Amino acid sequence: MGRRGIRFLWEEGGRGRMGRLRPALPEAFLREARDLVGERDLRTEEAELFSHAKDAWLLGGVWFSRGKEPILPGAVAYPESTEEVSGLVRLCCRYKIPLVPYGGGTGVVGGALPPAGALVVDLKKMNRLLEVDGENLLARVQAGMNGWRYEEELNRRGYTGGHIPQSLPSSTVGGWIAHRAAGQFSTKYGKIEDLVAGLEAVMPDGTVVRSRAVPRSATGPRLEQLLLGSEGMLGIITEATLRIFPFPERRLPLSFTFPSLEGALEAARRILRRGFRPAVLRIYDGEEVGLHFRGVVEEGRVLSLFLLEGDGKQVEVEGEVVEGECRSAGGSPSGEKPVEHWLRTRFDVHLAQEVIRGGGVVDTVEVAILWSRAAELYRKVRGELEGLEGMVHVSGHFSHFYPEGVCLYLTFAGFPSDPEAFYWGAWEKVMKATLELGGTISHHHGVGLVRARWMEEELGGFLSVLRKIKGALDPQNLMNPGKAGWGDGRGGR
Ligand SMILES: Cc1cc2nc3c(=O)[nH]c(=O)nc-3n(C[C@H](O)[C@H](O)[C@H](O)COP(=O)(O)OP(=O)(O)OC[C@H]3O[C@@H](n4cnc5c(N)ncnc54)[C@H](O)[C@@H]3O)c2cc1C
Repeated sequence: MGRRGIRFLWEEGGRGRMGRLRPALPEAFLREARDLVGERDLRTEEAELFSHAKDAWLLGGVWFSRGKEPILPGAVAYPESTEEVSGLVRLCCRYKIPLVPYGGGTGVVGGALPPAGALVVDLKKMNRLLEVDGENLLARVQAGMNGWRYEEELNRRGYTGGHIPQSLPSSTVGGWIAHRAAGQFSTKYGKIEDLVAGLEAVMPDGTVVRSRAVPRSATGPRLEQLLLGSEGMLGIITEATLRIFPFPERRLPLSFTFPSLEGALEAARRILRRGFRPAVLRIYDGEEVGLHFRGVVEEGRVLSLFLLEGDGKQVEVEGEVVEGECRSAGGSPSGEKPVEHWLRTRFDVHLAQEVIRGGGVVDTVEVAILWSRAAELYRKVRGELEGLEGMVHVSGHFSHFYPEGVCLYLTFAGFPSDPEAFYWGAWEKVMKATLELGGTISHHHGVGLVRARWMEEELGGFLSVLRKIKGALDPQNLMNPGKAGWGDGRGGR
């Protein structure tokens, strides 16, 4: 979807004129939907519609601060069971009403923005932890369960889910799965695709499918994997069986500073290559150290922050390896304080909102790249972003490490004369540089509306395969249509 397509979701307009942008749903449809979920769980009040007309996409915040308003959905349903979800999907098929699954609304790429007059299916009332199986280290959980509550309930029983995204306080399990999330502890515990052992979902025709939780299977392609990263376009995830872990016996915080980024990256590469998996490993450039660790870490240095956890003996050995590799790559130990500081502040995201409130434009972009190109990509995009008119801040950190490469997470902010040209100009620079150097344009935030235009270059021939799958499963193109460059199902019909 191009820029014009994105715009149709937002309109010029003063505050208080939201009703103008609210297409009505057929009365008969609303009546049947009410019969299905109950009067209380089918909402059409303006405040309810407005709160489901946006997600955490920062450009949405910029538009809103400049007096633009999102187009509203027609209604919001809060199903309480898989049967209710299935009933709603069948009803939408019959009336040809588009529908959008909605979790916590913390997505940052516009993936949950509804088209005009859609039915938003908010999963937050399907919020129970159904079973914790300690012997097999599995937890069965409803898709609308809040991440923080999920982790807290597991901790109480002596386990961790190992999936701790920065959005943990407000995101849901279904949202994690729908856009292939990665948590801050992912280097040890894996990304969401490593954690999903089984799924239940409602397909675009209302059929309910379930996969069994097994250690592995060779009975053909694992089709439930299609839902991981489907961003609400191939079905509604209603339940998941996730892998869990015994609560760590020991935690060891360590940090090192380096004179250069290359030294910090080299130490990390060697640690991963030797088979060690620190739960948390984050490398901050000098700008991020200045922004997030002022007074805690010496300015101008690059910071490598580690939190090792697990079995006591394993952590001890891992600590020795981390220390050895960091020292030999030129690092100097800087103690536990930076890690304690990070643990205290890791869910704090107030700075971005301050920039927007102050009339600026800000966003974050995460990509992934092989080790051999990681430093080159960082330098290239930094240089190009800094050249944009109005840019006041560019910084980066590396998180989520693999034996073959790493995730680069960039932040840019500016006060440009043309905010939209600036915003898309910055995205273009990062996407192009990443594709040129052989990386992937998203490590964990997904595609939504933001990255759709680069999907052809990203996926090549696989894009038309995805479109055919979408067209075959959702021939009326009702399930979160128009997203991710393949959500229109083109090629499938
Ligand atoms: C402050 C902040 C920090 C963040 N940190 C991280 C991070 O550390 N790691 C990370 O990976 N991401 C992060 N994100 C982005 C990420 O998109 C969300 O955190 C989260 O995983 C999305 O879950 P949600 O429940 O909020 O989904 P939503 O925003 O509600 O939806 C996201 C997408 O999934 C679809 N969807 C939602 N639920 C379902 C369902 N049950 N079935 C089918 N489709 C569904 C929606 O239609 C939409 O396309 C962050 C976002 C913010 C604002």
